[in-house]
Amino acid sequence: MVDLATALIHADDKDNRVTDVAPPINVSTTFRYDENELIPWSERESFEFMDETPIYSRLSHPNSTRLESVFSEILEGNAVVYSSGVAAFFAAMVHYNPKRVFMGNSYHGCQSVVKILGRNYGVERYMLEDIEEHASKGDIVHIETPVNPYGTSVDIESFARRAHAKGALLLVDSTFAPPPLQYAWKFGADIILHSATKYFGGHSDLLSGVLVVKDPGVAAQLRNDRIYLGTNASNLESFLLLRSLRTYELRINKQSQSATQIAKYLHEHQKDFNGVLSAVYHSSLQTEQYVKTQLEGGYTPVLSITLSTKEQCKSFTKKLKFFHHATSLGGVESLVEWRAMTDPNVDQTLIRISVGCESAEDLINDLVNALHEVQDATT
Ligand SMILES: *Cc1c(COP(=O)(O)O)cnc(C)c1O
Repeated sequence: MVDLATALIHADDKDNRVTDVAPPINVSTTFRYDENELIPWSERESFEFMDETPIYSRLSHPNSTRLESVFSEILEGNAVVYSSGVAAFFAAMVHYNPKRVFMGNSYHGCQSVVKILGRNYGVERYMLEDIEEHASKGDIVHIETPVNPYGTSVDIESFARRAHAKGALLLVDSTFAPPPLQYAWKFGADIILHSATKYFGGHSDLLSGVLVVKDPGVAAQLRNDRIYLGTNASNLESFLLLRSLRTYELRINKQSQSATQIAKYLHEHQKDFNGVLSAVYHSSLQTEQYVKTQLEGGYTPVLSITLSTKEQCKSFTKKLKFFHHATSLGGVESLVEWRAMTDPNVDQTLIRISVGCESAEDLINDLVNALHEVQDATT
């Protein structure tokens, strides 16, 4: 195994089909059969042949194959790519077919998938506190860590222990801390999910998701199901994502370091913003030992703050120069979001901050100026 930075650039060298250094964009939905080797589908024992001779792009295509080569290596398992993070979560639900799903704070889209399964098929949704009382074999415990929108962590190992004690599987949504920040396998995850739309994509211009499992047989079944769910990553998005992965390590490390610097500054200078800044949340500010152990490569690039009033939130987002006011995270451009815009259930004075690749000093100055302007307007 080579280091992450090398794997990102070379793990798909084995999939080269032409002499181009930059892999071509393949827009074709269909691929000519090899007239010298016409083997009917019914005589195929595995579908790995499609890595070399694709058939139809809903099944696989050259750049989705390359993506799976890179993701399998950097995520240390068998990776299956999807058209979005939510599509990846849905695929896990279809494959594992749990009767009960245990989830706490987590991405609203994943919760809504479970709601649909409940409405149509009677899948029961429980909270994480209910594992001991209600979980049994075949159920799924779903955790997201670090968790949206706070950027704080929960203890993966303790959830693995609790899930496994009941025969349930632990699914970890690691979108907020992909490798090298966090390797959830080490703490007992059975399935790992990433929205590749966020840090792997990194440029706010593509949607994709990835599921990682340990058993190659399960990955093959997921790929087979995906043919009929119709949720393979598309041709153009796959090209963009592959291109993004080449620089992923540079981006995530910078974003993680900058976010940690920003969280530290705001935490240490909270008194300067009396009457405005009421709290700062970030995994770097947590004191539990497991947080440091889990986030071995650095803290998540997402942090959150709360202001004193909703009015302050509205004027704060307007005064920033370098943070777009928009939902989502993970891109090279920093974003803030007054979460009340999309989430009615969260603290209505919460501002989520997704740190991009700008200079951390410039970002801190921008936040400080905006906070002071809001403070001046308030007093
Ligand atoms: C964005 C996100 C998802 C969903 O991913 P999409 O690519 O938007 O479908 C799932 N989990 C987390 C933690 C996310 O941030």
